[in-house]
Amino acid sequence: MSNGILVICEHDGGVFKKTAFELLAKAKSLGSGSVTALVLGADSGAELGGYGADKVVTVAGDFASHLTGAYVKAVQGAIESLSPAVVLAAASSEAKDGLPRLAARLGLGLGTEVTELRADGGAVVGRRPVYAGKAFVEVQVSSSPALFTVRPNSFGIPTSTGASAPVASLGLSVGGGDALTSVVDTEAPSSTVADLTEAERIVSGGRSVKSQDGFDSLIRPLAASIGATPGASRACVDAGFAPHSAQVGQTGKTVNPSLYVAMGISGAIQHLAGMRTSKIIVAVNTDAEAPIFQHATYGIVADMFEVGPLLKQELEAALS
Ligand SMILES: Cc1cc2nc3c(=O)[nH]c(=O)nc-3n(C[C@H](O)[C@H](O)[C@H](O)COP(=O)(O)OP(=O)(O)OC[C@H]3O[C@@H](n4cnc5c(N)ncnc54)[C@H](O)[C@@H]3O)c2cc1C
Repeated sequence: MSNGILVICEHDGGVFKKTAFELLAKAKSLGSGSVTALVLGADSGAELGGYGADKVVTVAGDFASHLTGAYVKAVQGAIESLSPAVVLAAASSEAKDGLPRLAARLGLGLGTEVTELRADGGAVVGRRPVYAGKAFVEVQVSSSPALFTVRPNSFGIPTSTGASAPVASLGLSVGGGDALTSVVDTEAPSSTVADLTEAERIVSGGRSVKSQDGFDSLIRPLAASIGATPGASRACVDAGFAPHSAQVGQTGKTVNPSLYVAMGISGAIQHLAGMRTSKIIVAVNTDAEAPIFQHATYGIVADMFEVGPLLKQELEAALS
């Protein structure tokens, strides 16, 4: 019989990502049975008890290479061994790649990129944006387990209670031979800030930064002043002012920060598609009619080259 919620807890060399904490706390709050944390490739996780895990199960193997075959095999093994009613994962690159494959393999339903979860008569119901964020749909998965990927930063990071959870191996080992592909090389990003998809604060620049120097001297310092990750519109990226990895939107990254600062971005539907669920949106634009203002929590009609440095000064003072 299916029971409880299995949360796939991602980590980087044993250091858990914030998404692990927010998913565990959410899973616990749903009151849908026990919460089990699944940890791939590390023999640790007792501290996850402080965020809501009743127990932690680990799978040994090489997951550092982020190979989908290994991920799918491990999660499948965990599902077959634990029979959870619900499986939650952050909408990370790995889960977005692996869970659809697993769903197809096991004939399961998958609710993708939900931003809310609630319990409803024994079932877990997700809510996700559709049509570039113009509408929301509720998703109830009829299979058991029901699979969901959750957009990072949807629920906020809880504070640990300090409790610890028992850690046990699932007795499953996923070797390199389980994956159909192999990694020949890896290159770590030079940036030390959070990836856009997980960032809690983002400062993005549009085409109107005018040059790479404009992006580097206006957007990056403003972002650094509040520990934010720099982002960009596609027009800014296409013009060569910012790298493609910084692009937010339909053909870039989908972000969900607590704070999104849009500097000189018009607010085209394709840009909104990637950032519309941000909790607080601050827009700076010279054009009072720019569409971004319809979605902004705070709007400043001004030249960003004048406002940017002032904003940086004020934010630094407020945070010091
Ligand atoms: C299939 C498809 C996919 C797409 N995918 C994406 C995507 O993923 N992401 C994305 O962003 N776009 C995407 N686009 C492009 C999108 O339609 C817009 O062209 C793009 O978002 C515009 O970028 P922008 O706001 O920087 O530039 P613009 O539309 O040129 O807007 C610049 C804004 O800056 C303001 N401005 C000018 N000077 C200043 C100043 N000194 N201070 C303050 N404000 C100033 C202007 O008033 C204007 O509102 C896609 C388009 C298509 C067709």
